[in-house]
Amino acid sequence: MLTSNRRVVLTCLFSTCILALFFIVESTVNSKNVYVKSCGKERKLTGKSNKNTDKNKGKKISLSYKKNNVNALIPKTNSHAEDKNSQLKIQLRESVYQVLNTIWGENNIIYNLFINSHRVTKRKANPLGQIFVLEYHRITPKEGLYARSISNFKRDLERLYALGFRPVTISEYLDGKMNIPPGSSPVIITFDDSSESQFRIMDDGTIDPNSGIGIMDAFAKKHPDFPVKAVFYILPYIPFGQKKWVQKKLNLFKKWGVEVGSHTMSHKNLSKMTDEQVKWEFATSVDWMKRLGFNPRTIAVPFGVMPKNRSLLNGFFNNGKFYRFEANFRSMGRPGNPLGSSKPDYLLNFPRVIGSDDHLCLKYYLDLVEKGKVKPYVMP
Ligand SMILES: [Zn+2]
Repeated sequence: MLTSNRRVVLTCLFSTCILALFFIVESTVNSKNVYVKSCGKERKLTGKSNKNTDKNKGKKISLSYKKNNVNALIPKTNSHAEDKNSQLKIQLRESVYQVLNTIWGENNIIYNLFINSHRVTKRKANPLGQIFVLEYHRITPKEGLYARSISNFKRDLERLYALGFRPVTISEYLDGKMNIPPGSSPVIITFDDSSESQFRIMDDGTIDPNSGIGIMDAFAKKHPDFPVKAVFYILPYIPFGQKKWVQKKLNLFKKWGVEVGSHTMSHKNLSKMTDEQVKWEFATSVDWMKRLGFNPRTIAVPFGVMPKNRSLLNGFFNNGKFYRFEANFRSMGRPGNPLGSSKPDYLLNFPRVIGSDDHLCLKYYLDLVEKGKVKPYVMP
């Protein structure tokens, strides 16, 4: 009896030590992140001191935010140090799970309390789950063809959040560096055509709260773990329609880490073009976005119609320069297969789920997630 009591006491002591160690190490990892205030919103930069530099851009990170210098804020996705920290945290958490599982077993109430307190949902890690890439066009007062109503878009965000989805950029997904919490599922929110309804600035310089970005920004302020992250497939030469605000909008994109991709130059049916015409559409749009300070890695071909010569998506030379897209998004479809689970060219015709309540669109697939009939990718 005495031996049994001693064993229980020792087990509890050992477990407490493990938990304490976990919290100490996790808080040490977190303490390496530096917080700065910008526009009244707290954003995180990584680094031990202001001597740290962002190797990607070769620019110094200034910890004192300067007005109109949004480039000083380096998007989270570009921080190698933060990637390393989050990897360390995931590995540490997994080790603690394993130790606690060995001590208490999977059905133990304390084990489950611990696990669930650190997970966004009760869903188990699922690296083979489906990837949700959403497709939106205009955000308008009324629902319609290629238009999501303001109220329904707000409802989509609320529902995605409640179901444990958290936004990632296309680069984070392609690079396997999705910095979202354990138990959550990634969602890539895309917008086509760069209409003003997606991002409107009011006369006083504030973001229209009823434009797509305005709705996402308000949502992010309410839910800091659902930041403004999206991919816009933009059209030249005045994306989002307000000439005087173009630069401000693009600066905000860079500040948030919002990405842009090609939607070609003319938005015409690529299947009716010659190879040379398609090359011009691709190369000119990429060059234009590079001049704006972006690095477009993906495309959404207009109407989802592929060029006759699909290999052009995979790469071609134009005027001595090489161009290629790492992914192309279809104009409709279903949740997609995760990286590495399909043939390499799957990424060049990746399906998207249309943001709509119609059959086989977003509401339909989120209902299936709720019923457990569609299994999304789940972070460990
Ligand atoms: Zn389009």
